Amino acid sequence: MALASVTAIGAAVGEHGGANADTAPRSPSPSEAMTVDRQRLLPGTPQETAYFEIDSGTDGPTGFVLGGVHGDEVNGYRAAEDIVGWELERGSLVVVPWANKIAVERNTRHGPDGDLNRKFPADAEPETDLARAIWELLREYDPAVVLDLHRSRGIYRTHNKWVGQTIFPTAVDSAPADAESAIAYINGVIPRTMWFHRFTKGGRLDGANPMVVHKAGADLDTPGFIVELTDFLVDLDTQIRWTKLIAEQLLARYGLERRSPEIDT
Ligand SMILES: [Zn+2]
Repeated sequence: MALASVTAIGAAVGEHGGANADTAPRSPSPSEAMTVDRQRLLPGTPQETAYFEIDSGTDGPTGFVLGGVHGDEVNGYRAAEDIVGWELERGSLVVVPWANKIAVERNTRHGPDGDLNRKFPADAEPETDLARAIWELLREYDPAVVLDLHRSRGIYRTHNKWVGQTIFPTAVDSAPADAESAIAYINGVIPRTMWFHRFTKGGRLDGANPMVVHKAGADLDTPGFIVELTDFLVDLDTQIRWTKLIAEQLLARYGLERRSPEIDT
């Protein structure tokens, strides 16, 4: 990896820059070959946004992580920024932390073209330039798993219309069972006093709604998950931590284990 790209990522994602920049000799390990490549989606346009390819240097599956599809769901893009810094045992990750960059900058759900996560109809072209660019990137990498990180207001099946504290799997292969596994894990992390915030599994994503993970499941048979947190009585740092723990669990189910997992109880 070019050192310049590491430095750029370090600046972009704060203290969680992707690679070890120290130059002291060390014994060889898989991370020696790790690279983090920063690239651009829709370059030269107002919606230009960065994406990152984290390659462990060891053959393995590819995962695809989206944050900032809704620009005011801060946990999603902050978690994605941190994921850019993860070291993997094998395989690679493609991370688009600020998918709807204009909406992220405005701290609004919608960008200039409305709700980005309603532009991905199954069996049809995505409806905006940004949606098409994201979809083409997804198809190019043909990932083993796709995650889309979100935050709702209330809690699913408790607060009318809200979908927080839920993992929605595609109706593909083991995705529903993998969602249950991640839910069992995260519910073991959530303090007992916060029983109200225990996660549940949402309905299967089958292409019925024009959302990117729905479309990935319906058109590409890709296992995928929408991860929905809530900001109801949960501070942002906790939302981010839970989001990352869930992402870590789900990615590991598809052979994308971290070298140094989050330590949590
Ligand atoms: Zn959202």
